[in-house]
Amino acid sequence: MKTYNLAHWQQQAKELSIEGRAFINGEYLNASSQQTFECISPIDGRHLANIAMCQLEDADKAVLAARAVFEKGTWSKAAPAKRKKTLLKLADLIEKNGEELALLETLDMGKPISDALNVDIAGTLRSIRWSAEAIDKIYDQVAPTPEGQLGLITREAVGVVAAIVPWNFPLVMASWKLGPALAAGNSVILKPSEKSPLTAIKLAALAKEAGLPDGVLNVLPGFGHEVGKALALHNDVDTIVFTGSTAIAKQLLIYAGQSNMKRVWMEAGGKSPNIVFADAPNLDEAAQAAAGAICFNQGEVCTAGSRLLVETSIKDEFIKKVTEAMKSWQPGNPLDPKTNVGAIVDQTQFERILGYINKGQDEGAKICCGGDKATPVANGLYIQPTMFSEVNNSMAIATDEIFGPVLSVITFNSMEEAIAIANDTPYGLAAGIWTSDLTKAHKMAKAVKAGSVWVNQWDGGDMTAPFGGFKQSGNGRDKSLHAFDKYTELKATWIKL
Ligand code: NAD
Ligand code: MN
Repeated sequence: MKTYNLAHWQQQAKELSIEGRAFINGEYLNASSQQTFECISPIDGRHLANIAMCQLEDADKAVLAARAVFEKGTWSKAAPAKRKKTLLKLADLIEKNGEELALLETLDMGKPISDALNVDIAGTLRSIRWSAEAIDKIYDQVAPTPEGQLGLITREAVGVVAAIVPWNFPLVMASWKLGPALAAGNSVILKPSEKSPLTAIKLAALAKEAGLPDGVLNVLPGFGHEVGKALALHNDVDTIVFTGSTAIAKQLLIYAGQSNMKRVWMEAGGKSPNIVFADAPNLDEAAQAAAGAICFNQGEVCTAGSRLLVETSIKDEFIKKVTEAMKSWQPGNPLDPKTNVGAIVDQTQFERILGYINKGQDEGAKICCGGDKATPVANGLYIQPTMFSEVNNSMAIATDEIFGPVLSVITFNSMEEAIAIANDTPYGLAAGIWTSDLTKAHKMAKAVKAGSVWVNQWDGGDMTAPFGGFKQSGNGRDKSLHAFDKYTELKATWIKL
């Protein structure tokens, strides 16, 4: 990666021309109603673009196009090797346009430009390439039948997939769905968050340039309760794949039940425990990881390590170490490559986080660091990474997903107590365990109800392993070959010989 400075990115931001229209059946269009909504940067309040406000009519148009091309088979019946080639080309184009995409992500949702480049764009590339590379290497099966029968077990693309994604990693979350969905031959309608629509809109043009047939990828910006709901209730959408809050995930299940029983696959919220035992191999490393687990991406991470469970015997020492580590995570201008904490996505989220900081104090928790807004850039939305001690697991700051840089420290006295606290949540997305005792590590890893467990580290993961949640953190998995389960139906074909 080339090294740039703040002035470079500021200049690039000035020169950007931003597309705000929807993309349906291979062309950019205004919303049928001609209505738009404003896209404002949380970095400094600047106006970025007017965005097409898609609604029911636009959803109908996109579903019609997606269905038509699916039935025609231009993409759905193309050889897997052909689909692979096109998607690899798309990945190359994303790479070529990586700096512009990263800049759009940073301006739109406030994350540091270095993360946008090294995490978001890099992760998007990896996801699309990995899924593309997999698709001509996955085999179907033959059942172990008696003589005289042939039992074929095959997978078919489901058809029209609507992907509804959040704003915290806009392009990466989209790519976790698009990679396997498109590789498997589906037509997709991507509904980005109203808080971060810019990169999804730009991606559509790159898909067209890569040679994806018209109608195979459509992008509908707009509000969740309007165009999102229209897609979720649509009788000709076969599958909804979603990343977002647990509340909306539940709503999607209702919409599916009210309409065509479309499949609903959800990656939802989390309140993940990061559990530090006194016998952790290296407390300094654990403290640095604990700070990163809540500060990275402004804490706007579904797997944020938002509950720090610390064994009582090391409580004071460890809190001191984390407080020290938090000092290296301070809000700065997101366009400065040195910044590691950016702006909060929008005013609503900003106020929500500050509200929880007040609530934590009201409930009797003690602020160890942070606790207020910050102003590294005038008119921007910034919050100091904040740590609370004296938290018990029933306080709002311990039960609710805040989705901001707010850490709650809770103490425990035994392995049993650590397990009980860790699992005392409706969520089950991730958990961290720090110990040198191999048996304890394995016992804890089994006992914690979470889709990802990290031992002596935080946030392990790769395209090669599934990602998703237990309990109300979701169902199904993104990434790895398991992801293809969501984008295919199983068929059993019996042939009498
Ligand atoms: P959100 O649930 O408010 O919105 C997610 C998406 O759903 C957006 O595109 C939104 O427009 C759409 N939506 C909203 N209401 C809808 C409706 N009635 N019908 C259809 N669509 C609707 O979540 P958010 O605020 O964008 O993102 C934050 C949440 O996402 C957090 O809870 C976080 O934990 C979760 N998240 C989870 C993962 C994961 O992989 N598990 C990853 C990132 C974020
Ligand atoms: Mn935005």
